[in-house]
Formats: sequence, structure tokens, C-alpha cells
Amino acid sequence: MFISIFILLLLAAVIGAVFGSFANVVAIRTHDESSLWGRSHCMECKIPLKARHLVPIASYLIQRGKCAQCGKHIHIQYPLVEVAGALIAIIAVARHIPLQGQWQWIAFEFLFGMALLIFVVMDARWMELPVEMMVGAGVVFSLWNMLLRVSSGESVAVVAWSHAVGFSVATMFFLLQWMVSRKRWIGSGDVWLGAILGGILGWPSVGMAVYFAYIFGGTAAIVLLISGRLKPGTRVPFAPALAAGAIAAVWWTPWLMAWLAYAFA
Ligand SMILES: [Zn+2]
Repeated sequence: MFISIFILLLLAAVIGAVFGSFANVVAIRTHDESSLWGRSHCMECKIPLKARHLVPIASYLIQRGKCAQCGKHIHIQYPLVEVAGALIAIIAVARHIPLQGQWQWIAFEFLFGMALLIFVVMDARWMELPVEMMVGAGVVFSLWNMLLRVSSGESVAVVAWSHAVGFSVATMFFLLQWMVSRKRWIGSGDVWLGAILGGILGWPSVGMAVYFAYIFGGTAAIVLLISGRLKPGTRVPFAPALAAGAIAAVWWTPWLMAWLAYAFA
């Protein structure tokens, strides 16, 4: 039993790292508007990478973070996103052990996390968000989550209301901040991201996501300010905090709702 769980988690880590590697490619090629299907090459010397340079995480470690051909530094984004992909996959599987009939939830959590990873990379590195891709992901993952909820016994009406309310509240909440602050607090991409998260997570889950996003984002900002790595008044990407909040909401909302129901019964 333990051996099979260990092998399963190891497999999840490998698949997650490979998807993380793909998330890197999607983010970079969406940013520079190049084709998704060409061969990968070094950003510095432009020489195409060989198969042994493309192994997620391992290649970076073996090459000590440098291109095997020109010796220039490889951006830390690559291994970080690969590790994040592996972690998201491991947690998605581990959360649903003992696994009976839960594969559709695991697939949802994993692929939702991967999509968020792409948006986080683009916002963190270039302060840009792929609005069309986000809207596409919003539609797919909203329908998918609604289907999962209905198939696990919630009524169609409750689920439909939950997602309609989640979408409306999140859209208004972020649109209002965007307008009141005249785009200083958050960018238009963040409004789009908030809106699709509302549609995907539904109410009250998106409320939890926003709550966690401000806790995570606020903590990160304070740490960065104190350590002097962030100058007061600089713009900080908000998508990483929102995405982390959304993942936290997926993991913890059922538990938090049960706790709240118990505490205020
Ligand atoms: Zn190179």
C-alpha cells in the first residue's frame, strides 16, 4: 500500500514537472507571440536545445543553472515553475487519497493549477496577463467545476446560483477597485482574472480566495518592504497572490465552511 502510494506520488511529481515545463513554454511564447510548436532554444545564444537539456528540474541542476552551450544563466523561472507544477500535482493526488472515483477532481485541481501557473509567470515577469487565454480558461473551468459539483450531488439550481453570484461579486469587487483607484491598485488584467475566478470557484469559494489573496499578498509585500527588496510605491504584480488565494480556496473552502457552520450553529 505505502509503496504504491509512493510510486503514485512520484509519478504525479514527474507529470507535474513536465506540465510545469510546458507552462513555461506557453507563458514565454504567449509573451513574445511566437509559435507554440517550434523547438525550444536558449534565450541567449538561440541554439536549439537537445533532449538532455529539456529534462525538467534535473537539467537545470546538472547544468548549474547555465546554458550547456553558451554558459549564460538560465532564468530562475524555469526550475521554479517546474517545481511548482510538481508540487501542485503531488498535492492534488495526495488530497484525494484514497482515490476512489476522485480522479475527475484530481484532474480539475491539477489543470486549474497549471493554468494559473501560466498567468502567474506572465504577470510576475512582465506585468502582463493573457486576457483571451484567461477568458477561455474561465469558461472551460467554470463549466467543469459546475459539472463536478452537480455530479457529486449538489442541485443544479444551487450550483448555477453559486457560480453566477461568484462571478458577479468578484467582477464588481475588482472593477470597483480598478475604477476608484484609477488603475493604481490593480490593473485591468487583474479585474479579468478576478472575474474568471469568481465564475470558476463560485460563491462562497471566491470570497475565500480573495480573502487569502490579500493575506498572502499583504504578507509578501511586508516581507519584501522590510527586507528592502521592494521600494515603497513600486507596482507589484497581483496575479500571484490571487492565484495562490484561488488554490487555497480550492483546498480549504469545504473545511472552512464546515468549521463556520459548526462554530455559528
Ligand atoms: Zn545559450
